[in-house]
Amino acid sequence: MDRRDQTTHFGYRDVPLGEKQTLVNEVFHSVASRYDLMNDLMSIGLHRVWKDIMITQLNPPKSEAPFALLDVAGGTGDIAFRAAKAGGPGFRATVCDINADMLEVGRNRARAQHLDDRVCFVAGNAEALSFPDRSFDAYTIAFGIRNVPRIDVALREAYRVLRPGSRFLCLEFSTVDVPGLDRLYDLFSFRVIPPLGRAVTGDAESYQYLVESIRKFPRPNAFAEMITAAGFARVKWEILSGGIVALHSGWRL
Ligand code: SAM
Repeated sequence: MDRRDQTTHFGYRDVPLGEKQTLVNEVFHSVASRYDLMNDLMSIGLHRVWKDIMITQLNPPKSEAPFALLDVAGGTGDIAFRAAKAGGPGFRATVCDINADMLEVGRNRARAQHLDDRVCFVAGNAEALSFPDRSFDAYTIAFGIRNVPRIDVALREAYRVLRPGSRFLCLEFSTVDVPGLDRLYDLFSFRVIPPLGRAVTGDAESYQYLVESIRKFPRPNAFAEMITAAGFARVKWEILSGGIVALHSGWRL
């Protein structure tokens, strides 16, 4: 099928595959300057805990040995900064994101935290990374893959740029199946988050997209199958906070 004829989801809307990225870019252009504040408010600070769990799994070496992390859809740099603080003098991170506004916020934060010598920011698309084959020791993507139009292509790119023996880690919103919590979570998602988005960023629609896109993302087992299909081995996942989030991992062997 011609790419122009294929459709995908943008939240609950079906859109041509080629248009999703433009719509996603508009979302993050609109919210970039208040993105970090909104994360704290709408997750009641929990995103910090989930990100710390990801860094614990990543376990960057504390030594002087070189270790190169690629954080894709890294936005304002949260994962890279946490990893840099946990890693040793040999640690370097590259934050790759498609959105210039998010990267600009990230660069300013890196300077403010004196991490700009160890974390660099590069514009790029997860579906077509500009890095050579086998050039990184770990690949992370947090709350990013859901936004990428062709997830299977991005996963194959992740595999390509990783050195054999290195790790893929993906943190993403998932499916809440706990009775009681699911209704509460839906209520909070649809009744609280978009109005909160309007109050803080002036943009409710972007946060409506956020809550809808979460519902359209594959369940943990289906996503694990996609990671395996991209070539990764020993794929597993951990459910966090009753299924609000899942942390998937795999190895390029
Ligand atoms: N990882 C950061 C975090 O956890 O705070 C930012 C996550 S933010 C929800 C999603 C990010 O994905 C945005 O910065 C957006 O620009 C980026 N993004 C969306 N599509 C992308 C693509 N195709 N390639 C790279 N980045 C993309």
